[in-house]
Amino acid sequence: MIAKDLDFIPYALPLIGEEEIAEVVDSLRSGWITTGPKVKRFEEAFGAFVGSPHSVAVNSCTAGLHLSLLAAGIKPGDEVITTPLTFCATVNTILHVGATPVLADVDPVSLNLSVAEVARHITPRTRAVVPVHYAGNPCDMAAFRELADAHGLVLIEDAAHAIGTYHRGRHAGTFGDFASFSFYATKNLTTAEGGMIACRSEEAAERLRVLALHGMDKDAFKRYTAAGSWFYQVVAPGYKYNMTDLAAGLGLAQLARFEAMQAVRFSHVARYQEAFGAAPFDLPPAPIAEGDAHSWHLYLLRLRENELAIDRDAFAEALKERGIGISVHFIPIHLHPFYQQHLGFREGDHPVAEANYRRMISLPLYPKMTPEQVDRVVETVLDVARHHGR
Ligand SMILES: *Cc1c(COP(=O)(O)O)cnc(C)c1O
Repeated sequence: MIAKDLDFIPYALPLIGEEEIAEVVDSLRSGWITTGPKVKRFEEAFGAFVGSPHSVAVNSCTAGLHLSLLAAGIKPGDEVITTPLTFCATVNTILHVGATPVLADVDPVSLNLSVAEVARHITPRTRAVVPVHYAGNPCDMAAFRELADAHGLVLIEDAAHAIGTYHRGRHAGTFGDFASFSFYATKNLTTAEGGMIACRSEEAAERLRVLALHGMDKDAFKRYTAAGSWFYQVVAPGYKYNMTDLAAGLGLAQLARFEAMQAVRFSHVARYQEAFGAAPFDLPPAPIAEGDAHSWHLYLLRLRENELAIDRDAFAEALKERGIGISVHFIPIHLHPFYQQHLGFREGDHPVAEANYRRMISLPLYPKMTPEQVDRVVETVLDVARHHGR
């Protein structure tokens, strides 16, 4: 096939330049390889970028979600409402604190957790809501804030896709009581593995720091500097969730080039939008409200099933055969066997999420992609569609 002599375009690749490499080498030479001065600097720089009063660096967004739920006091018997269109970590962390995940369907236009559906699922046991800024498209956080305040619920933003997402002029992660960002290799800003919790209360931030490092009342940085002391006390059975200085160094270099990386993403998105506007696809949901901005973490096309004689699985296979890496975000939570067996979730529970899942494909989108690669994705997608029209 043609694909044989063409280079494969991977679904995702990080953009690691000399600055990132120099930061890591600098940490290696300094002796501070784990949590130290660069983690502090990265917390401050990222917090300033987002506009969050307190920032706590951790080793993943998953760890950040887990600690946020713990710091919020979520416990066994509590119900936490979230979306079926998310990564499993959103739901697993609710289970890790012993609480019960409750899914509410997504909004058919934005594909974000529907505020009305959440309201319908509130019971006397509901304690928290975890909206996900799906693909980087902002949730209606003003509405979620109002709903949470009206019912005394904790609001935790899964901001894994939302570095560069804005709602009403404010960065995502500043509406919730807590928010957790991801710096996983495929995310808009990477530290290889890493996460950042944004939170509003100083007391909560202190609790998060203690829980992120074994439940000790002093962190290693303070213990091993000249100003520090050997003495510490364990005040909670904490976790080992701290970020390393190696990772924070990567984060500092990535943050310095973040706007430039986003600009490349946006130009790739513009090419996709122009190319697919007249094709048999629904374009990705995008913000329409004043002051809202999409981070374009994902670019998802949805096949128009009545205009195409090919289903999503075959379409994805055809792209792969022609050297285009794709992904699907996400297999709805309630279709996974574990949650079906242990939480009683069933196919059919959330028809909007399911109907969209059935026909969606995420195309490659990252700043390391060249315009020529974007063109090849466009031509290949259009060609497959042309060969399978109705
Ligand atoms: C990537 C992702 C996470 C987990 O991020 P990690 O940093 O890998 O733990 C959580 N939620 C969503 C929606 C994600 O896409």
